[in-house]
Parts: sequence; C-alpha cells; structure tokens
Amino acid sequence: MRTFKFGGSSLKDAAAVRNVGAILQRFKDENLVIVVSAMGKTTNALEEVIYAHARQDGTALALLDGIKGMHDTLAKELLPGNQEILAALNDTFVEAHWVLDEPPHPHFDYMYDQIICVGELASSRIVHAYLNHIGLVTAWLDAREVIITDEIHREGWVDWTETGRRMEEKVKPMVTQPGFLLTQGFIASTRDNATTTLGREGSDYTTAIFSYCLNAENMTIWKDVPGVLTGDPRLFDNVTKLDRLSYKEAIEMTYYGAKVIHPKTIKPLQNKSIPLYVKSFVEPEGEGTLISADVEDHYPPIVTVEQDQTLLSIATRDFSFVAEHHLSLLFQKIADQRLQVNMMQNSAISFSICVNRAPEKVQAFIDNIETEFKVTREDGLELITIRHPQDGVMENMRRGRIVLFEERIRNTVQFVAKNVPVMARKG
Ligand code: ADP
Ligand code: ASP
Ligand code: MG
Repeated sequence: MRTFKFGGSSLKDAAAVRNVGAILQRFKDENLVIVVSAMGKTTNALEEVIYAHARQDGTALALLDGIKGMHDTLAKELLPGNQEILAALNDTFVEAHWVLDEPPHPHFDYMYDQIICVGELASSRIVHAYLNHIGLVTAWLDAREVIITDEIHREGWVDWTETGRRMEEKVKPMVTQPGFLLTQGFIASTRDNATTTLGREGSDYTTAIFSYCLNAENMTIWKDVPGVLTGDPRLFDNVTKLDRLSYKEAIEMTYYGAKVIHPKTIKPLQNKSIPLYVKSFVEPEGEGTLISADVEDHYPPIVTVEQDQTLLSIATRDFSFVAEHHLSLLFQKIADQRLQVNMMQNSAISFSICVNRAPEKVQAFIDNIETEFKVTREDGLELITIRHPQDGVMENMRRGRIVLFEERIRNTVQFVAKNVPVMARKG
C-alpha cells in the first residue's frame, strides 16, 4: 500500500476537489491511505474564530457560520441533492458551536484544538462523500482514534507505542479491504480522547506517521508546485526543481523553514527507508521530486527565507558570564514553552536565540526568566538559510538587508536580518 497527502491548496474549491478525484481515478485499483488537510485557508479562518471567542467580542459565531456556509456550498456543488453530507457537516460544526456556547476555556491551547479540528473533519467528510459519488469506494477514518499524543495542545508529541498498537488493531484490517481509506491530517487525540493537533501544517507529518506504522511502499505529497524547488517561487523567479534529494538534505531544508514539507515528516520515513515523492496536482504525470536514502553529493544553492522571526538577546542582570548553569536553565525554559529555536549564539555576557513567531510563548518565556535575566527582543525579522552557498547567491541575499547575526557551519550559511528602509537621495 502507499500513502497520499492532499493539502489545503489542492482542495480549495469544487474544481480542485474534482481534480483530486481525477488524479485518484488513476490509482483506483491500489490500496491507498489518503490524508487530507482543511480546505484552502480554512485553518486560518478558524483561528480567527478562536481569537474572536477568546476576546469575547461577539463575532465568533458569525465567523464560524461563514465557514460552515462555505463548506455547505461546496458540498452542494459537488454532491447535488445529497442530504447525508449536509447532515454530516452539521454534526461536525455543531461541536465547535458547543465550544462557543461556553465561556472561553481558561486553557487557550486546549480550546484552540477543540475548534481547529473542524477544518480537517469537514474537509474529509466532503472528499469522502465525493470519492464514493464518483465510484471510488472509500472508507472514512477519524485520525483521532489512532494518532495518540501527549497532552501538550497545539504541538502534541506522538505516543508511538500506543499509535502503533492502534494502527495494527484498527487500521491494518481496513487497509487490506478493497478501496481507499481516507483520513484527516493534523489532528490527533490524547489517551483520554481530548483532541490535540500536531502543529500548523502538520498533515504531512500525519501522512508520514501512517506510512511508518503501516510500512507503506512510498508516500506522495501533492502540491501546486512541480516538486521541491531551490527556493520559494513566491519569493524568487529563477528557481529550479530538484529531481532528487537525500533525506538528510530534505531534513535540513525543511527544518530551516522551506514551506514545502513539514519538518517532522522526513524522519519516520528515513527510519524505514520509505521514499517520499513531492508531485504536482496540476501536472500529475510530472516526475516531481524523489526524496530517498540515495546520497546526492552535488546540490545547487538552496535558499530558504523564514519571515516573522523574533531575536531574543539574553544577558545576566549582574553582568556575570552566561555560564553553564545559566544555559541549562535557559534551555529548560525554552523546552517548557516548546519554542522553536532556529539559530543561537553565545558570547561572554549574552546569549541570543532566533525563534519563530509565537508571541504568547515568547512572552511567557520572558516572564519566566525576567528575575535573573535582562531580555532584549526584536520582532519581524527574517532568517535566511543558504545550503551549498555560492558567492553570487550570498551577495544577492544580503542586498537591501541589515545582517544582525550570521553563522556558517559546513554547507550552511544562516543569517538573521532586517530589511533596510528605502532611502531617498538628498537634494
Ligand atoms: P499545501 O496546500 O499542501 O498546504 P502549501 O501552500 O502549504 O501547500 O505549500 C506549497 C507552497 O510552498 C508552494 O506553493 C510554494 O510557494 C511554497 N514553497 C516554499 N518553499 C518551497 C520550495 N523550496 N519548493 C517548493 N515550494 C516551496
Ligand atoms: N490545516 C492545517 C494547517 O493549515 C494542517 C495542514 O494543512 O497541514 O495548518
Ligand atoms: Mg499547507
């Protein structure tokens, strides 16, 4: 068997869902596990609902109804006259309604997961009904029954033992049946049945978990790009497709923020040597990119730009050296907040880290260390990572930016920078 993942952009409207159906027709005799994300930008829209509910500004219900309305419209277009799908969507959204009927839960991340999961649940209901409608026999599975995490909401860590056990018991028998099995990315659950999530963009990771536990032959992520490119095509013109990548190169790229694959995806695949294809849903016959154990030792420069970085410079209040016991305390506090550190540097009296945007977590981290340390914070920065750097590319990336700190380790150059404000010449 093998696994497919269809992300939000491959399901953004009725035409997109039909296209997914057409791609799947080509595999109709295979055993596929299909993982879907929320449709289009639904997850962002649901985040607005959650923030509105937390603020209690009275707009949350209307926002949620708007999202439901879009799903209803799409379902009616794809499945005219089908009442069952509308009932299934009602059942899905009513659970989020119940959360909104209550005052905001004191544990924000818990509340977030209870509402955000609706995106994947609704999307999987529609795709499931549509595939069956076009004659592709497909079973529906609630991923929360098998993917089990710890109790950290919004960034659950997978309990591999329990997940593996449930995959054996529940999913393997379903996979051996003829037809496809369809489930949701991103969402999971604790052993006590509270919904958790694996972190934004986590559907790729879900698919890798299924691939690992079910020993898939290979996994394919279907994208709006021809494969993995040397840079983000939204930022650069002259990017080219990488035909092959080693697991190691893919881990490095995605860890530093290449948005094309979720960084946690590669490791489980590498552990079982499961090849990963990144292919285009626009040109499904294209070769795409193959990520596998084969070592490729020659790569062109690969550039990753991560926006919205926060730089924290941490100094002791008494100007003493930042010594080992300080570092150990700081690392503990970083781990407590699950801050994602992209770069760090240590000097005699200060320690600097560059982290992804996470205002609440960053503030909690600062509050926790404030008695001992003085923290300077700068938001809205860019982290630029260049793998296999060449001079011209480096110069290009530095142009128009002020570099705040830079580091070079073997094949990787990284710097944190801010854009230089445009200056007009005098006179
Ligand atoms: P999905 O719908 O599966 O969630 P996304 O929109 O999150 O897909 O991710 C696909 C986008 O990732 C592409 O449209 C592209 O703009 C961007 N991207 C960033 N870096 C790369 C890269 N190195 N190679 C290919 N695409 C990239
Ligand atoms: N829908 C989730 C998100 O947008 C998960 C995913 O798309 O992978 O973050
Ligand atoms: Mg995405």
